Amino acid sequence: MLIGPQNSAVADNLPARLRAVRARIATAARAAGRNEDSVTLLAVSKGHDAAAVRALAQLGVEHFGESYLQEAGPKLDALAGLELCWHYIGRLQANKTRAVAERFAWVHGVDRLRIAERLAAQRPLLAPPLNVCVQVKLAPDATKGGASAAEARVLLAAIASLPRLSLRGLMCMLPEGLNAAQQRARFDAVRGLYAELLREGAALDTLSMGMSGDFEAAIAAGSTLVRIGTALFGARTEALGVNDA
Ligand SMILES: *Cc1c(COP(=O)(O)O)cnc(C)c1O
Repeated sequence: MLIGPQNSAVADNLPARLRAVRARIATAARAAGRNEDSVTLLAVSKGHDAAAVRALAQLGVEHFGESYLQEAGPKLDALAGLELCWHYIGRLQANKTRAVAERFAWVHGVDRLRIAERLAAQRPLLAPPLNVCVQVKLAPDATKGGASAAEARVLLAAIASLPRLSLRGLMCMLPEGLNAAQQRARFDAVRGLYAELLREGAALDTLSMGMSGDFEAAIAAGSTLVRIGTALFGARTEALGVNDA
C-alpha cells in the first residue's frame, strides 16, 4: 500500500552520499558553463523516515520533496520544529489538493486548471503564496501527467492570475530507461519552451528537472532544481507505491 518509511540506519551513509551528489551537481554545472549555485538540490525523502530527513537537514539541505500525503503528514508533523521547505512532487488529484495547499511551500506537477484553481482557493490566507511549477510532457512517453506546450501556455496564463499562487516555472519527469542522448533531447525541449516563455515576458525562475538517473543531463540542459531521492538516501522499497488515494 503506502511506501513504508525505512530504517534510519540510512542516515549513516548520508554525509558521503550528499558529498557525492553535490560534487556531481557541481561537475555537471561547470561542464555547462554554469555556477553550481544555480542548481537547487531538492532531497526526495519519500520512502525514508523523519530521522533521515533530520540528518540531511543537519548537513545543510533545506528543500525536501514528498509524493504521498499519507506518508508525508506524520513526517511533516515530526519535523515541524525544523525550518524546512517542503515540496509536493506527487500526482495531484482533486481530492488531495487541500492537504497540499495547507502544508507545502511548493507544488510541482500541476497540469490542469481545475487543480490550480482548487489550490488557490484552499491556500490559507495567512500563508505565503504557494509556489507552483507546471508539469509538461513534450514527448509521447508513457509517463503520467504533463501538459503539452500549448496546454502549458494556457495554464501558465491562468495560474498567473489566480490569487495565493506564485507561478515559478516548469517541471518535467522522464521515463526510466532512456539513454543520455534521449534524456538530453527531452530536457532541451522543455528548456526551449521555458526560454520562449521568458522571452515572451513570463516571470519564471525555476526549471524543475532531473532525478537520480538523469540529473546530469538535466543540468546540462539548464535545470535549476534537481529532485533527487535514490542517489541520496539509497533505494526505496518500490512496488508498494500505490499513490495514496
Ligand atoms: C520519486 C521522485 C523523484 C526522485 O526519484 P529518484 O530516482 O529516487 O531520484 C523525483 N521526482 C519525482 C516527481 C518523483 O516522484
